[in-house]
Amino acid sequence: MRILKIQTLRGPNYWSIRRHKLIVMRLDLENLAETPSNEIPGFYEGLVEALPSLEGHYCSPGCRGGFLMRVREGTMMGHIVEHVALELQELVGMHVGFGRTRETSTPGVYQVVFEYLNEEAGRYAGRAAVRLCQSIVDRGRYPKAELEQDLQDLKDLWRDAALGPSTESIVKEAEKKGIPWMQLGARFLIQLGYGVNQKRIQATMTDKTGILGVELACDKEATKRVLANAGVPVPKGTVINFLDDLEEAIEYVGGYPIVIKPLDGNHGRGITIDIQNWQEAEAAYDAARQVSRSIIVERYYQGRDHRVLVVDGKVVAVAERVPAHVIGDGRSSIAELIEETNKDPNRGEGHDNVLTKIELDRTSYQLLERQGYTLDSVLSKDEICYLRATANLSTGGVAVDRTDEIHPENVWLAQRVVKIVGLDIAGIDVVTSDISRPLREVDGVIVEVNAAPGFRMHVAPSQGTSRNVAGSVIEMLFPNEQSSRIPILSVTGTNGKTTTTRLLAHIFKQTGKVIGYTTTDGTYIGDYLVEAGDNTGPQSAQLILQDPTVEVAVLETARGGIVRSGLAFEAANVGVVLNVAADHLGISDIDTIDQLAHLKSVVAEAVFPDGYAVLNADDPRVAAMAERTKANIAYFTMNPNSELVRNHIQKGGVAAVYENGFLSILKGDWTHRIERAENIPLTMGGRAPFMIANALAASLAAFVQNVSIEQIRAGLNTFRASVSQTPGRMNLFNLGNFHALVDYAHNPHSYEALGSFVRNWTNGERIGVVGGPGDRRDQDFIALGKLAAEIFDYVIIKEDDDTRGRTRGSAADLIVQGIKEVNPNYKYELILDETQAIDKALDIAPENSLVVILPESVSRAIKLIRARGVVKEEIHQQ
Ligand code: ATP
Ligand code: ATP
Ligand code: MG
Ligand code: MG
Repeated sequence: MRILKIQTLRGPNYWSIRRHKLIVMRLDLENLAETPSNEIPGFYEGLVEALPSLEGHYCSPGCRGGFLMRVREGTMMGHIVEHVALELQELVGMHVGFGRTRETSTPGVYQVVFEYLNEEAGRYAGRAAVRLCQSIVDRGRYPKAELEQDLQDLKDLWRDAALGPSTESIVKEAEKKGIPWMQLGARFLIQLGYGVNQKRIQATMTDKTGILGVELACDKEATKRVLANAGVPVPKGTVINFLDDLEEAIEYVGGYPIVIKPLDGNHGRGITIDIQNWQEAEAAYDAARQVSRSIIVERYYQGRDHRVLVVDGKVVAVAERVPAHVIGDGRSSIAELIEETNKDPNRGEGHDNVLTKIELDRTSYQLLERQGYTLDSVLSKDEICYLRATANLSTGGVAVDRTDEIHPENVWLAQRVVKIVGLDIAGIDVVTSDISRPLREVDGVIVEVNAAPGFRMHVAPSQGTSRNVAGSVIEMLFPNEQSSRIPILSVTGTNGKTTTTRLLAHIFKQTGKVIGYTTTDGTYIGDYLVEAGDNTGPQSAQLILQDPTVEVAVLETARGGIVRSGLAFEAANVGVVLNVAADHLGISDIDTIDQLAHLKSVVAEAVFPDGYAVLNADDPRVAAMAERTKANIAYFTMNPNSELVRNHIQKGGVAAVYENGFLSILKGDWTHRIERAENIPLTMGGRAPFMIANALAASLAAFVQNVSIEQIRAGLNTFRASVSQTPGRMNLFNLGNFHALVDYAHNPHSYEALGSFVRNWTNGERIGVVGGPGDRRDQDFIALGKLAAEIFDYVIIKEDDDTRGRTRGSAADLIVQGIKEVNPNYKYELILDETQAIDKALDIAPENSLVVILPESVSRAIKLIRARGVVKEEIHQQ
């Protein structure tokens, strides 16, 4: 077996609209191509031995053991790899279920598709599955040690990519509310929502969190001073820089017991509390010095440690934090109790789990000594032994929810403190013997205020109610269900995508909004080009959706991006499908036009149920997509008598129709005439039917997004796709006596479209200069020849400089063959050199004629035309 390619899908795709995270592995079965599993001796047994849990896979039989039954009876190896890849992920806790395996048109080559949670782990699982199956084929088994290593690697990959617990809780809450989110370039920066409506967070800081508040909170001493000035109870203390000043400082705070901590530390690092004598004080000074130059000396306040979380000015949760400790059972030593406690699956390393494992440090031994224990001491039943002085979760502490117990005065105080410091999200550390009584009454103090407080002690307290604090953050960022999204309009089809996307963006501009749009020529925001290039894939779409100025996204969505990674968004508000015609078949395992239609229908299907799929009623494959989408349907048609559209309108549907020379929107009994085709420059005076179709599609997409008829009309009247913006797309030049047209039609469907315009040229003779890229199929050249004979009065056949592997003259011969099929006596001329052919045509062009050029090099063709003295360019757009 050999993996030929691994693709990672991240959005609605060819395989599934709903399952976005899929790995597509192109797998060559090689010598296993003809061998189903039942013909490989010992395979079934080896597989069951390696992965007994495959028993849980139902597969087509629809019952437990169903998949294994298929393996025993005989199934192809691609299918087995799919199930193994899923199971490997499942075994480490990544719950995935979706898989598909399909044979491609290349014998023995399969597409194996399976779900993932984490991209890297997904790809790894695919490779590991192939390794595992191959090993069982070759040796009858997969060594246990290797499987264990695979599972460990998968776990590591998953963990390394995981978000922190606080971020995770916010992101989950966003998902629940239907708010899209994505990681930005910097891994910890998260965007919630799209375009102008986006908000950002990083851990529990938001784009509203003020930098002054953060700076102040990070300076514990300054915070204390500011709070003390405001009459808030804080520990009496001072800051020193030299050991020599320690004694005086201790005196100043009122003698022992004291606390020593670094000025700018966190997570309890370098802190010693409840210091009773000079010897301990010196050691504590040294420990704090390792973290910070300046040292805080404070009075020690007896009491319990609380964290009060304030979001958007309100106390949303209170937790008591209990320092790491063990509870005796009358049998085990303290060391054994620690080991037992750390076995709790909720305890991880650092911040990556609900709780953290208990680790002992210098103060732990001091504490033990003070309590009269060693690690070997056996505690009597229910006796508590504290192992850390501070209660930070990250040092093994646990949390108890006290939200319902806090005294209203303390709520008031906490909310005021957060205002004074200036934070939208803050965690206040309070030491008090009883949180249910006012601090002042019980000599409680506010020890510090934390910016970016952790959420896990509130979301998953060890005791008490879990508090949905992430919900409060989301409510602050998007109050009253305020929209997090911007309208997304996605445009696909075989031909006309760029034109329609540009036109639609132009129509939308009439509303005064900032439009971000992507096309084959580049990515644009408002009136400016952001990035040139063929930008019709998900990365360019992401750029638009991430841009904080964009109010509406119009996205040309080409096949390449959908195949490679799926759509960039979960659903659009409008999905436009213009047409489906043979082009680029045989690439990326899209071999038939129906497969191509299936691929393009992703754009129609990935639309919100209250959105619209805008479909071409005149193209049966496109019209059929109505069956597959849950969205509303809007049809456009060039045929005012289309039965499909008539029925649709009768049922109250909406459609755009070309009738009596007008582009109109029909809805129920209403007809809105938008504009006469003649007055729309893009339609070349109404002579280019396919452009009328593109204009109908764009108008309809805008209409269902509530753009007014007046604005649509204004957009249609003023859309000018200049030669400089869209070279090679129906560029018409007035040369005084005659006209020349340059177009880069590149498949039979667009030749047809071009033909429909040329046929409408009734002023004079029609001359064609035709040829095509050598990598097209023979039948495409013949089709081009036939069409040329039908629409032109005279044809000059040329070839590209780059024959793309064909022998010179053979493409031309095929075109001639096509011409002769239509009319054996047709007048044509062979001039293989493109420059000479174009020049000849321009030389012989009679009065009022139209010379149509399908060039290899658009710029060269335009140069040759301009050399003749162009009177006016793009006259159709004036
Ligand atoms: P974190 O940022 O994780 O909250 P930190 O390193 O910033 O911790 P502090 O919050 O200043 O440190 O102190 C840690 C803990 O030590 C407090 O939550 C409290 O339990 C205890 N503590 C600190 N100062 C005092 C004090 N003056 N009196 C009593 N206990 C104190
Ligand atoms: P690409 O796949 O190269 O990005 P596209 O779909 O973006 O193409 P356009 O660039 O808008 O299409 O148009 C390319 C050519 O396709 C035009 O010059 C014209 O010949 C033809 N064309 C445009 N619209 C249509 C249509 N609705 N039907 C058929 N052909 C069309
Ligand atoms: Mg603290
Ligand atoms: Mg395009």
